[in-house]
Amino acid sequence: MHFALTDEQSAIQETALSFARERIAPGASEWDETSHFPVDVIRETAALGMAAIYVDAEKGGSGLSRLDGALIFEALAYGCPAISSYISIHNMVAWMVSRYGTPEQIAEWLPPLASMDWLASYCLTEPGAGSDAAALSTTARRDGDDYVLDGTKQFISGAGATDFYFVFARTGGHGAGGISAFAIMKETPGLSFGPNERKMGWNAQPTRQVILDNCRIPARNLIGGVEGQGFKFAMSGLDGGRINIGACSLGAAWSALDKARAYVFERKAFGSELATFQSVQFKVADMATDLEAARLMIYRAADALDRADPGATMYSAMAKRYATDLGFGICNEALQLHGGYGYLKDYGLEKLVRDLRVHQILEGTNEIMRVVVSRKVLGGNRG
Ligand SMILES: Cc1cc2nc3c(=O)[nH]c(=O)nc-3n(C[C@H](O)[C@H](O)[C@H](O)COP(=O)(O)OP(=O)(O)OC[C@H]3O[C@@H](n4cnc5c(N)ncnc54)[C@H](O)[C@@H]3O)c2cc1C
Repeated sequence: MHFALTDEQSAIQETALSFARERIAPGASEWDETSHFPVDVIRETAALGMAAIYVDAEKGGSGLSRLDGALIFEALAYGCPAISSYISIHNMVAWMVSRYGTPEQIAEWLPPLASMDWLASYCLTEPGAGSDAAALSTTARRDGDDYVLDGTKQFISGAGATDFYFVFARTGGHGAGGISAFAIMKETPGLSFGPNERKMGWNAQPTRQVILDNCRIPARNLIGGVEGQGFKFAMSGLDGGRINIGACSLGAAWSALDKARAYVFERKAFGSELATFQSVQFKVADMATDLEAARLMIYRAADALDRADPGATMYSAMAKRYATDLGFGICNEALQLHGGYGYLKDYGLEKLVRDLRVHQILEGTNEIMRVVVSRKVLGGNRG
């Protein structure tokens, strides 16, 4: 077991952190307040190899590992978790195209995804099917050389601003086996969007319904050219997605801890710096310990996925639950250490708390993470 980053991984982390500090952090507060999705800044990450991070180099990706990806998303989230997490969704779609697409689909779609000429959205959730995604009711009906899709996707990140929609729809009977996956371009007639949802956080990226109304696409847009595989694709994408969203929580918590470390030396109460109070010292110690524990779990899960460890799905679920819960707690404690100033927008902490709250809900809620873990731990003996 080896716990140090390689020189290459340190360089990757440093590149992402510099980008976060120079290009993301300065705009983060304004993007949050004005609900601005900075696609120009996001597209700059493609030139750094961050648009198809763990896609094989032969297929046009960066050929890096999941662990490299976690380091990148953690570092980008140091600047803004809402931006980093959108980039993680884009990467999830690029990887699914590379992993499950036909050679023709990979040749046609991957280059514009890897260059971010096309930004991507992942469309699984529906108004009536969230945690129970296998109950989705959007239909895809074969009609000659086409499929015709009807239904509504709910809470889709980037929707309306993105170009490429990876959509899950039902081609067969009930349950997971009846689900297939499709690629739909933004301009396709019959594809439209709901209004941008008004949210607690993640305001730097839009969240909209994706509405499919008699939406006709060529049959060659069926991912992998086979029906009934969509749910398998969706779930395998989510293993990595969960690691990435946990990594985004790490980056935000890291930034919150740095802010708190500086503030406890600046602020005085009862005649001395906050840092002189042992309860404050202990709080900072606990925050740093929690961050380190969560970081180890995320890196371990990423490594398990890289090695195709049979426990990778469980480790991803454990790490997602742990890192998003602890990351939220660390940001909230950093806010508390800032007293009333932490509650003001100027210090950037209330934004981190708002942004990180949703990490406990999406890519599978933290209750669903416990469902995944308990299935593995208890197997068929759950009573
Ligand atoms: C800002 C935002 C962005 C999102 N982006 C995307 C996206 O890009 N693409 C996409 O497809 N989806 C996206 N989602 C959807 C997200 O993945 C779902 O919201 C999430 O999976 C939960 O589904 P739900 O909201 O329908 O909650 P529900 O499934 O209705 O759950 C409600 C509550 O019941 C609990 N619960 C449900 N089942 C169980 C159970 N078996 N055991 C214990 N508790 C249970 C849940 O944990 C939760 O607390 C996004 C959501 C948000 C808020």
